[in-house]
Amino acid sequence: MSAAIASPLPTRSSTIDIREITHWISGTAVRGTSGRFADVYHPASGKVQAHVPLASNAEVDKAVQAAAAAFPEWSSSPPLRRARVLFRFREIYERRLDEVAALLNREHGKVFSDAKGEATRGLEVVEFATGIPQLLKGEFTEQVGTGIDSWSMRQPLGVVAGITPFNFPAMVPMWMFPIALACGNTFVLKPSERDPSASILLAEMLKEAGLPDGVFNVVHGDKSAVDAILAHPTIQAVSFVGSTPIAEYVYREGTKHGKRVQALGGAKNHMIVMPDADLDQAADALAGAAYGSAGERCMAISIAVTVGHQTADTLIEKLKTRISNLRVGDGAQDASTGEADLGPLVTKNHLDKVTTYVELGTTEGAELVVDGRQGALPQGDGFFLGACLFDHVKPEMRIYKEEIFGPVLGVVRVNNFETALQLINDHEFGNGTALFTRDGDTARDFARRVQAGMVGINVPIPVPMAFHSFGGWKRSLFGDHAVHGPEGVRFYTRIKTVTARWPTGIRTGVDTTMPTLG
Ligand code: NAD
Repeated sequence: MSAAIASPLPTRSSTIDIREITHWISGTAVRGTSGRFADVYHPASGKVQAHVPLASNAEVDKAVQAAAAAFPEWSSSPPLRRARVLFRFREIYERRLDEVAALLNREHGKVFSDAKGEATRGLEVVEFATGIPQLLKGEFTEQVGTGIDSWSMRQPLGVVAGITPFNFPAMVPMWMFPIALACGNTFVLKPSERDPSASILLAEMLKEAGLPDGVFNVVHGDKSAVDAILAHPTIQAVSFVGSTPIAEYVYREGTKHGKRVQALGGAKNHMIVMPDADLDQAADALAGAAYGSAGERCMAISIAVTVGHQTADTLIEKLKTRISNLRVGDGAQDASTGEADLGPLVTKNHLDKVTTYVELGTTEGAELVVDGRQGALPQGDGFFLGACLFDHVKPEMRIYKEEIFGPVLGVVRVNNFETALQLINDHEFGNGTALFTRDGDTARDFARRVQAGMVGINVPIPVPMAFHSFGGWKRSLFGDHAVHGPEGVRFYTRIKTVTARWPTGIRTGVDTTMPTLG
């Protein structure tokens, strides 16, 4: 483990093993000075493993000032040179991918193989961003008027900030900063206080790759740090990913302060299973998409909409078999801990929230076909919950309407495709969705009419690749831009259009009419 993460500084706890995590400002690990800390758990054992400092306004300001000081030089360096830093970062990151994944496992709880998947999806955005010289090429029109040429260029915004959730502590920051930096911006990241160490590891690697000090900074914190970011006059844009109420708040406050904001929120992703679908394939896909990462994915499928009672009955039997084979455990790289398919939830609070929803589902009248609270769970104080499956979920139930964000899948039975589609279109969230069918006509109709930002046809978690853009509709995204891909480049730049003519082409005399460039 690196020195900045396992800080050699004295800890505030009597337990000698507990690390104190640092901020990262101007290319250096910096201890928190606010006097406020949060606990970071090891979810598999339930023990506190680190303390993360919660930044004061002054600490946020220090990071912003560092980013502002670095902006003039970084933004005026050629895009190719900025890309080369990212190429070096890519090499370092790929070499240390296992270390990133192990860290994600330790703080988030997701199993090592899944953590590697997360780390790799982040890497793909870096690969996209290394193409920035090509992506920033502007538009040029010769002879927009006689002797007059015009061109458009995209320029960076200045200091931009990212505020990220707990569920992808490496990948979600990497949706943001590689493109922001490639475009010439400087960056302040406020990661989730629940699993904050990955951000510092990324900062160390960026420094090793030759990123100038101050171009990338990390401040840890809670609402108070977020509010300081939203109100800071120097910050030009904020990218947020997290739950819907906070996304909406960040969007309102950020735009109120004149910032450009993209705020991605929560989800309740439905997967329609048609009677003609390959039900084995659908059951495999559902089990992976509902229970992978213990359901703590914004693109997890949490509702299966089965068309026809026979489809539901068969699918549920198949799901039961698959669930009985799922192994719940630590999922660390160390083989001695045993292999696992899903790890613990991130904190005890979150475990309690999810189990409360399981209780609620039964009182609301849904049928709990598989109860993940029972069965083979690891011993000890880890935050484990097995896969839960509800049948006969109804649209008026809270377990249907609200995001649970745990290993809980609900089945809603409907009689036809139109009713299934209407359910999705009526839901407040519109992040991802999927349809399993063998019928091309239905699939095409679905893709065209469904009200969601990311659509899978026989693909359960249709997360767009880095060179496309990621974002939901309705209350799953506030703002005008999705993240990464072409939308990311647009978000982190503003367009300037130049119209030029040279003295030989300029006619003499004043003309007060509206120029038409004829
Ligand atoms: P969260 O909203 O609790 O926290 C996200 C960020 O906001 C964190 O950095 C946190 O410190 C900060 N925050 C928390 N409370 C705040 C407050 N009152 N005021 C200001 N800032 C605050 O989200 P989470 O629990 O960390 O992450 C899970 C949520 O994120 C789920 O709803 C999930 O769907 C969503 N998510 C969405 C996407 C997407 O692409 N749409 C991706 C990943 C996660």
